[in-house]
Amino acid sequence: MERWVEETLHRGFRVNLKADSVLFDSETEHQRLIIFENADFGRVMMLDGIVQVTTNDEFIYHEMMAHVPLFAHGRAKRALIVGGGDGGVLREALRHPQLEQVTLCEIDRGVIALCRTHFPEISAGAYDDPRTRIVIADGTKFVAETDDRFDVIMIDSTDPIGPGAVLFTREFYAGCRRCLKPGGLLVTQNGLPFLQAGELKQSVAYFRELFADASAYLANTPTYFGGPMSFGWATDNKKLREHRRKKIERRHEKAGAFPTRYWSPEVHVASFALPPYVRDLVEA
Ligand code: SAM
Repeated sequence: MERWVEETLHRGFRVNLKADSVLFDSETEHQRLIIFENADFGRVMMLDGIVQVTTNDEFIYHEMMAHVPLFAHGRAKRALIVGGGDGGVLREALRHPQLEQVTLCEIDRGVIALCRTHFPEISAGAYDDPRTRIVIADGTKFVAETDDRFDVIMIDSTDPIGPGAVLFTREFYAGCRRCLKPGGLLVTQNGLPFLQAGELKQSVAYFRELFADASAYLANTPTYFGGPMSFGWATDNKKLREHRRKKIERRHEKAGAFPTRYWSPEVHVASFALPPYVRDLVEA
């Protein structure tokens, strides 16, 4: 019998993906997790009824979550990923040779274990990289208490539902600010401006209270259905999002000009060109 899996993120808009085969379907310590094969998107993981990652388009989101802040910063030695249990952002961050350590703070050890088993191509050995440090904890607690300091923080969280809700609060962003080094940079998974405008507007309003510069950048990710995906941007150094293509290109070359499939120096610069309906959400 055919099985279709429904994504239930939005009030009046639902998407169904055909599950050609189901590899896992159960509760972890924190969330309902299902992993299934789909003819168009490859292997798919959903948490609490929301698509998190697919093997066919994961490169887009993971490249843009990692390379835009790391090439914008240019001299990051220590990075923090909150969430990111599938290991895709970790994999991309570790392609930056100047990084000495990447800490991944994930609340659900079950996500890491299941993604290591069912999505080995996404983490691609990143969990075993000597520069990787895994912390199993709630991100809000970690940023409030850690003695560590970071140049770049990437919030690769679920949406503000279930355990991910706290990662969209002013308290959490203040904690991120607390453990950012001077001149550091925070980027966040901030949903689809077309369908989740309020989340992006609220996050950037909090950033504006805590940092000198707040904005967003965009990427087109097929499986986050409903328009471009936004990434929140918060730093005290406004120049970080104003680099020209040549400078980003030089930094990419210095990092070994590793091949990418979505991010490029041109796409990096263009991702900050916000259409008016998004610009109006993030401008004070
Ligand atoms: N790329 C996906 C997206 O854009 O929705 C996110 C992928 S990743 C699987 C999201 C991770 O955030 C999950 O592994 C989840 O367990 C983790 N997470 C949710 N709430 C968290 C919290 N409070 N602290 C740390 N990790 C959390």
